Amino acid sequence: MDTQPRAAAQPYQARGSYGHFYAGQWQDPVQGEYIPIEDPSTGEWFSACARGQAEDVARAVADAQSGFKRWMALEPRQRGRIMAEVARRLAGEAEKFAYLESRDTGKPLSVARDDVLTCARYFEYFAGVADKQLGEVIPASNSHLMYGVREPYGVTGHILPWNAPISQAGRGAAPALCAGNSVVLKPAELAPLGTLELAELCIQAGMPEGVLNVVTGYGHEAGTALVDHPLVRRVSFTGSVATGRKVLHGAADRIIPATVELGGKSPFIVFADADLERAARLARKAFVFNSGQICSAGTRLLVEKAVQQPFLECLQAELGQVTVGRGIDDPSIGPVISAGQLQRIQAYVEIGKQEGARLAAGGGRPAYLPDGQGGHFIEPTLFVGATNQMRIAREEIFGPVGVVIPFDTEAQAVAMANDSEYGLAAGVWTSDIGRGHRIAGGLEAGQVYINDYQPIGVEAPFGGYKNSGYGREKGLASLHDYSQLKTVIVHHGN
Ligand code: NAD
Repeated sequence: MDTQPRAAAQPYQARGSYGHFYAGQWQDPVQGEYIPIEDPSTGEWFSACARGQAEDVARAVADAQSGFKRWMALEPRQRGRIMAEVARRLAGEAEKFAYLESRDTGKPLSVARDDVLTCARYFEYFAGVADKQLGEVIPASNSHLMYGVREPYGVTGHILPWNAPISQAGRGAAPALCAGNSVVLKPAELAPLGTLELAELCIQAGMPEGVLNVVTGYGHEAGTALVDHPLVRRVSFTGSVATGRKVLHGAADRIIPATVELGGKSPFIVFADADLERAARLARKAFVFNSGQICSAGTRLLVEKAVQQPFLECLQAELGQVTVGRGIDDPSIGPVISAGQLQRIQAYVEIGKQEGARLAAGGGRPAYLPDGQGGHFIEPTLFVGATNQMRIAREEIFGPVGVVIPFDTEAQAVAMANDSEYGLAAGVWTSDIGRGHRIAGGLEAGQVYINDYQPIGVEAPFGGYKNSGYGREKGLASLHDYSQLKTVIVHHGN
C-alpha cells in the first residue's frame, strides 16, 4: 500500500474559535464554554466551537421564528434567487470551504471539495424549485371548490453527523428553506466548521437574518434542547440508530414529524457474469471511500462462489493502490474522525479474527504515518471466509472494513442481502439485466444500484428501509417531508 502524500494544499486559516450563528451574526455561548476541534490527521486542536446549552438553543430558535416570518414575506422567486446566490458564492469559495472541511474531518481535499460543491448543488437545485411548488384542485363536488396547498412547518431543526458535514447541511437545509421554513442546524461537535461558515455566507448572499441558523454543542445538551423546543415543528436527524431512537422519542413526545437516516450494512452482490474488474474498482470505493465513514457504504461483499477467487485478486490489487495520508495532502483516504472511532474499528478487526474470518488485507495502522503518531489512520481492511451471521457482517463499523461472504444461488444472495436490520443501499453486479431488475425488486433497501455503487445526484431520493430510518432526503421527495398539506373547501352556492 502506497502511503505517500500526493499533493500540497493551499492553507486557509480557520478562526481560533467559533460562536453560534443566529440573528445574522456570530453569538457568544451563554455560558461562555467552548469545545476544542481536533484535526484528525494530526491530533492537534486547531479551533474551537461554542458549547451550546438549552438557553443558546432557545435564543436561536426564537430568532429563527422571526426569520421564518421574514422568509415567508418574500415572494417564492425571491427566495429562489437568494438560494441560487448561496449556491454561486459557495461554489466560488469552494477552495476555502474544502480546506476547512478537510482539516475538520480529515477527509481528502478533493473529496472535501466535492462535498462543498454538492452542498452548492443542493442550493442550486432547490432554488429552481422555490417558485414551482404547485398545489392541486380536487374534483369532488359540483358545488364546492376544493384545493390543496403545501405549507411550511415554521422552524425546522436539523441534527447533523460528522462524516460529510457540509453536504449534509445542504441536504437538510436547502429543501427545508425551499419549502418556506427557517432552519436551525446542530452540526456534530466533531466537525461543525463548514456548517458555521455556511451560515455566514448565507447572510452575505442576501438571506434575511434568522433564516439559516447554527447552534453548536454536544448532542445530549444542544441536540436534545433542539428536539424539545416547542417552536421547532419538525426535525431531521442523521447518525447512529441509538441516537436516532432518542430523537424519535423526543419527537413523539411533542407529536412532531421526523426524518431519520441511520446508517447501514449495505450488500454489494457480485454474480459470476459481472465485469469483475469494474466491480472490484467500485467495491473499493463502496467500503473504503471516506475511510468507510459513509452511511451507504457497501461493506457486505456477497460474491458468487465460482468467481470469489478472481474477484478477490482484482479487489486486492485495487486496495494495494489506496494511499493513506493527511486530508490536505489529498491521498485516497485520510484518517478516521477521532481516536474513539479508530478504537471502535480496531475492536471490530479483533472481533472479526475471533469470529473466525481471515484478514485478506489491512487490519492495522499504516506503516508510514504521515504526521507523527497523532492522526487516526487505519489501513483499508478486508475479511474473507466470513458468514452473514458474524458481528462484522451485521453491525455498522463505520471504518474502511469490507467483509466477503460467498453465495451459490440468486435466491440465497437476496435472502442474505435482506438478512440485516438495515436497509439503506444495495448494489447488484451482473450482465443479465433482467436479473438485475429482478433482484432490485427483491431487495429491502431505499436505494439500489445495478452495475454501479455510488449514491450520486442530489436529485435521487435517498433514505432507509428498516432500521436505516424513514423519510427521504434529496430530490423532490424531500420537499414533501418539509411541508404540510392544507386542504381548503369552498362552497360556491350551486
Ligand atoms: P451520533 O448519532 O451520536 O451523533 C450524530 C449527531 O447527533 C451529532 O450531531 C450529535 O451531537 C447528535 N446527538 C448525539 N446525542 C444526541 C441526543 N441525545 N439528542 C440529539 N442529538 C444528539 O453519532 P456518533 O456518536 O458521532 O457516531 C456513532 C456511530 O453512528 C458511528 O460509528 C456510526 O455507526 C454512526 N453514524 C452514522 C452516520 C450516518 O451517516 N448514518 C453518521 C455518523 C455516525
